[in-house]
Amino acid sequence: MPRYTPRGVYPERRRRARSTRHDVAFFSTLLTVLHVACPGVPRSTPSPGGTIKGLEYAKKLGIDAMEMEWVQRVPSNVEHVEAIGQKARDLSMKLTIHAPFYVNLNAKDKVILAASKKRILQALTMGQICGALSVCVHPAFYLGMDPEKAYENVRRATDDIMKQKSKFFPDVNLGYETMGKPTQFGTLEEVLRLSKEFGIYPCVDPAHMHARSNGAWNSAKEWNQMFDLYEKYLGKSSLNTMHLHFSGIAYGPKGEKHHLKFEESDAKWKEFLGVLKKRKIGGVLVSESPAMEEDALLLKKAYEKL
Ligand SMILES: [Zn+2]
Repeated sequence: MPRYTPRGVYPERRRRARSTRHDVAFFSTLLTVLHVACPGVPRSTPSPGGTIKGLEYAKKLGIDAMEMEWVQRVPSNVEHVEAIGQKARDLSMKLTIHAPFYVNLNAKDKVILAASKKRILQALTMGQICGALSVCVHPAFYLGMDPEKAYENVRRATDDIMKQKSKFFPDVNLGYETMGKPTQFGTLEEVLRLSKEFGIYPCVDPAHMHARSNGAWNSAKEWNQMFDLYEKYLGKSSLNTMHLHFSGIAYGPKGEKHHLKFEESDAKWKEFLGVLKKRKIGGVLVSESPAMEEDALLLKKAYEKL
């Protein structure tokens, strides 16, 4: 059995460890910090590359968080995933995970539904082993179904997954993402409502919201509304430990086409950083631009200058 050493978890969960009097790491987690994460191993990592070398290299560049892109499959080598967690702790880097794309918690086909739940559970379990904070999941497609009916199906599947929490992923968040296409389950309200029901928090991607609405959600006023709604559902302190994605994005009437570099998009990214700073939003912000480490650093440096 893998040994669990869940550290780097958010303050709420660490309160249990309060008796450790000289736990400096614990007290530092009380400060609201926004970590800008690279979406996977930096492209310029010297060969032979890999996640461990990528973490070392990202740290050297000045990046202190990474989202591991397990979008094709979840790694199965427990020792390796443990070693990733150890390396991240040694370097004081935060980890988040993106779960496989092949998921539909609204699938009518029982085999697809079971496989979807299994992939999410595997990502969460491996997340626990490496001390990841949160696992981003694309929850479902509507498949032409009434959104409320789809919600009920996703809720039932989530209930099955959450029954395994205490055993397999006690310290990892299941983060349903706000999705970029109108055919995908995952409006802000849907993921907030689900998260509230299960005591989890979503992975909010304002670029997806921008694309889904064919151009809205791209101003300080709208982002403030977004955070207000988040706070209304999940409480003020939840804004200290968010899982955010952001990038430039190409879109049309059918929503998201593909991600873009910030400078090549219409994203008012500096304005977005201003809202984050002003509201003291904390947690992990994954820069999902195709210019991986360059744009993560662009965000980080611009944020620090504000
Ligand atoms: Zn995603």
